Amino acid sequence: MQFNLRSFLDSACKPYETEFAADMSGADFGAFTLNTPAQCTFTATPTEDGAALLLCVKADVQSECARCLEPLSRSYDFEREYFVRRRDLDDPDFELPCSEQGCLDLQELVFQELLFEVPPVLLCSADCQGLCPVCGKKKSAGCSCQTAEEAAPVDARLSILKQLLS
Ligand SMILES: [Zn+2]
Ligand SMILES: [Zn+2]
Repeated sequence: MQFNLRSFLDSACKPYETEFAADMSGADFGAFTLNTPAQCTFTATPTEDGAALLLCVKADVQSECARCLEPLSRSYDFEREYFVRRRDLDDPDFELPCSEQGCLDLQELVFQELLFEVPPVLLCSADCQGLCPVCGKKKSAGCSCQTAEEAAPVDARLSILKQLLS
């Protein structure tokens, strides 16, 4: 999905709006994936000295809990606003993914904004107990290691008691 930002800045006199689905199933986000396309709206409005751009993104993100590795899914719905002037297109540090011809790559923009919006570490719940370091099972599910730990001091006291009795 390309938007000709240069020609919009040069000659647009009325707003432009488009809706598109950004298929990111093959994109490498690192910590998460997008199994379904992100639903996006892009609006460009001419201003006195350039253009105001608005990008709205709705996306379902799949990942796993960083502590217990349980699969999880999160919904994101956010907006980004940009103000662009004609001379920004010739600026080598221009932040938006724009070709030399002045075409804005909307799919790439959505990718960048998702990377920015979704935290690199996701948890199934804020107080996730993670995995037991001994048996590797979820701590919240309970594992025999925990009961063994708790039982140990009792056993020690019992054995002393037995020694005294004998
Ligand atoms: Zn978890
Ligand atoms: Zn355990």
